[in-house]
Amino acid sequence: METLLIIEDEPHMLRALKDNFSLAGYQVITASDGEEGLNAALDTQPDLILLDIMLPTINGYEICRLIRDQGLDMPIIMLTAKGEETDIVLGLNLGADDYVTKPFGVSVLRARVAAFLRRRKQEQTTLHEFDGLQLDLDAHRLSRDNEEIKLSPQEFRLLAYLVENLGRVLTRDTLLNGVWGYNCFVGPRNIDRFITSLRNKVERDPKQPRCIHTVRGFGYKFEPPKGIAE
Ligand code: CA
Repeated sequence: METLLIIEDEPHMLRALKDNFSLAGYQVITASDGEEGLNAALDTQPDLILLDIMLPTINGYEICRLIRDQGLDMPIIMLTAKGEETDIVLGLNLGADDYVTKPFGVSVLRARVAAFLRRRKQEQTTLHEFDGLQLDLDAHRLSRDNEEIKLSPQEFRLLAYLVENLGRVLTRDTLLNGVWGYNCFVGPRNIDRFITSLRNKVERDPKQPRCIHTVRGFGYKFEPPKGIAE
């Protein structure tokens, strides 16, 4: 069972979230002030944290920073009040992953929580199956029906990065930094070339890609037809 920690000082909100997520099958831990919340985060190391910003004793930003200082990397979603929009960037820079603005629909928040936890599970596994392909990140092997598909080292790294970022829109710059690193001579246009050659090997019909999608104006996104199995 996955554990959520909810840190929120408003009793109604805290109770509503607790009930809702408990019903949805999560183990829910709650805290109603900053210090209690920080201690709970460090002691129990939950799978995900919902974090209010304005809290007694220690505010949400500080909690975020202290959690990351301890090397903990569970997803943190900030619960922000209207009017705190300008501070969202601060929270994201301090290590939060996402935010919702109050008032929000709990179903939207639930969907986001589920997506983060799915993605996290994804990141922790090294065997992936999608669209009839098997990708073994440890063995550096891509195959279809036990038949190996040869990839160049760079194609492999690009595919691995795409798979690990399932469902995320990745700009060419993000890909460049994530796959090749900052100090490289690969330009954004070269990314397109690598994507094309990768599609030729991965996609059944490279002209109508089912896994590696172009997101017009932004970059690329990896999202195979029926999701991805481990
Ligand atoms: Ca508050």
